[in-house]
Amino acid sequence: MLIDYHSALRLVLKHSSHLGAEVANIEDALGSFLAQDVIALADLPRFTSSAVDGYGVKIADLINVDDKNPAALKLVGEIKAGDSSKIKIQRGECLRILTGAPIPSGVDAVVMKEFTKQDEIIISFYTSANLGDNFRNKGEEFRKGKIILEKYTQINPAVVGLLASLGIKKIRIHKKPRVAVLVTGNELVEIGKKLKFGQIYDSNFYSLSSSLKQMDIDIINLGIAKDNKVELLKKVRLGLKISDLLLVSGGISVGEYDYVQEIFDKLKIKKIFWRIAIKPGKPTYFGTIGKKLIFGLPGNPVASLLIFNQIVKPAIRKMMGEIKHQPIILFAKLDEELKKRSGRLELVRGILREDSKSEIIVAPTKRQGSHMLGGMIDANCLIYFPMDKSVLKKGSIVKVVLMK
Ligand code: AMP
Ligand code: MG
Repeated sequence: MLIDYHSALRLVLKHSSHLGAEVANIEDALGSFLAQDVIALADLPRFTSSAVDGYGVKIADLINVDDKNPAALKLVGEIKAGDSSKIKIQRGECLRILTGAPIPSGVDAVVMKEFTKQDEIIISFYTSANLGDNFRNKGEEFRKGKIILEKYTQINPAVVGLLASLGIKKIRIHKKPRVAVLVTGNELVEIGKKLKFGQIYDSNFYSLSSSLKQMDIDIINLGIAKDNKVELLKKVRLGLKISDLLLVSGGISVGEYDYVQEIFDKLKIKKIFWRIAIKPGKPTYFGTIGKKLIFGLPGNPVASLLIFNQIVKPAIRKMMGEIKHQPIILFAKLDEELKKRSGRLELVRGILREDSKSEIIVAPTKRQGSHMLGGMIDANCLIYFPMDKSVLKKGSIVKVVLMK
């Protein structure tokens, strides 16, 4: 009856589709995925320049030169970054040239300042040079007309910088989904209000909306619904209307008052799966209406956050234009024996570190209960405790997925 995690993820990704494109300023596009190829409108670098502070020379003047047999050349001028002077040098002459300054014709190498000594207008060189030494050559990184960034590339700070260096101000990106969040439960109270005995504060809205904020996604807050069919129907219907992806927390398990799935059915949501062989997070529901995605997340705070990370986030990234889901997976030596019943993949919150012998070690955090957010505070990874295993021995090599 339970679907395994990898099949669940595959189904979710299969039903997630890229949203349309929009134009954004490059400084607002961080984290988005390109909806166009970017072509170099010019060579990069645009002109040949010096990579160091030093002296422009003719290499013929420095043949057989070393620290015991220096050569002396006459300093005839200076070029700084931003200068466009066209000074020329003749044999026996050199030119002071600073990092980023264009190389004038006639200069066929730059010698680093560190290998020279200055005495008035005479510069002594303690090294020979090869043609093109310390040049940044025009077009060496990208040639004009070539594709330098492919469609579906995620925009990181380096991409933003590269776009700027090409003089590009606006770019086509995939739209991000509008995500609506509804939390459910009679026991839930909004922070700021007084609790009566038996009540708890809603924390799932805050952990889920923070996760969405990290992805720079706009959130529609549908508030807290009681475990009441009329109220649930109204809020879920509204959520479906105004979002591309709806997250409903709680009420999706097998309890007497877990009405969420019944409401989903009533609203003609097509169920793709319900209940994953995973711990925490078993009661997870996934369904669709057209291109809209609907997730029923378990109410337990840790489960809700982990299922967001492991299932919902890949779906959102796909909608945003990602073409391949690639979690960062590594292998580490387990520092403590782990036990469980077989039958579900367990995601153990872990701390990954390098020990004094440069070995990568992983240990579970304290507080592994699915209601214990405290166990996630120090966690920087999840240890995959495979479905069919019941023991992971101390010292064994385990698969770990990074969370940060
Ligand atoms: P449920 O999935 O509705 O059966 O809830 C499972 C557990 O998670 C119960 O102990 C709930 O009180 C708790 N829970 C549900 N929703 C939230 C929430 N939004 N914030 C904090 N705890 C919650
Ligand atoms: Mg509930």
